[in-house]
Amino acid sequence: MSTEPVIAIDGPSGAGKGTVAEAVAAKLRWRHVDTGAMYRAVAWKAVRERLPLHDEQAVAGLADRARFELDGPRVVIDGDDVTDRIRNADMDRAAAAVARLREVRAALVRRQQALARGGGVVMEGRDIGTVVFPDAPVKIYLDADPSERAVRRANDPHHQRLATAGVDDVKRALEERDQSDRTRATSPLKVAGDAIRIDTTGVPVDEVVQRVLEVIRERLPRALSG
Ligand code: C5P
Repeated sequence: MSTEPVIAIDGPSGAGKGTVAEAVAAKLRWRHVDTGAMYRAVAWKAVRERLPLHDEQAVAGLADRARFELDGPRVVIDGDDVTDRIRNADMDRAAAAVARLREVRAALVRRQQALARGGGVVMEGRDIGTVVFPDAPVKIYLDADPSERAVRRANDPHHQRLATAGVDDVKRALEERDQSDRTRATSPLKVAGDAIRIDTTGVPVDEVVQRVLEVIRERLPRALSG
């Protein structure tokens, strides 16, 4: 098994990946990388450059050349701070569209693998345990009931929703995106064979974090010994 210091956290939208990954990274004093933000930033830039979102070569070229700054919650692509511009319904759809393109994924997977070379990282996404780091020593798959995920997403202060959108609209959009993520030909969202699946429905976030830390204690004790 590789000793890459990676904790992979995968799962669908609204399963709690961001909050849990951030808390676990803070506890270990490791970096937290939100790979969804990379797909969103690429989608934002493609829209800004008026590239058709199905133009695989053009969007992949953009992903390959992009300079990302991902410190804490800030997301910067090629010098543009897009933190407040990538979490809305349009970017949900645009990110899921570019994430279906094989060459775009290949470019971003290379970037994500490079990010782990600098030391311990807690990386969250859809394919971290299956494709980006198939040998990660700790793989967690977070899931939750779709209705609860929709309520969490609707109440997420970082995600802007239209004033007219109710929880039902949020739920419908979330299910569409899940469907796209689960059925795409390249790296669909699925549970890695050796991942620990945690259902977070009705579970307070602190308990989920404790459960993940227990898994780390069992599978990668040196991460917690510092
Ligand atoms: O996690 P988040 O909702 O921000 O991700 C936005 C989109 O990026 C997802 O719907 C998915 O299509 C894509 N994504 C992906 N692989 C990842 C992370 C995100 O395909 N590792």
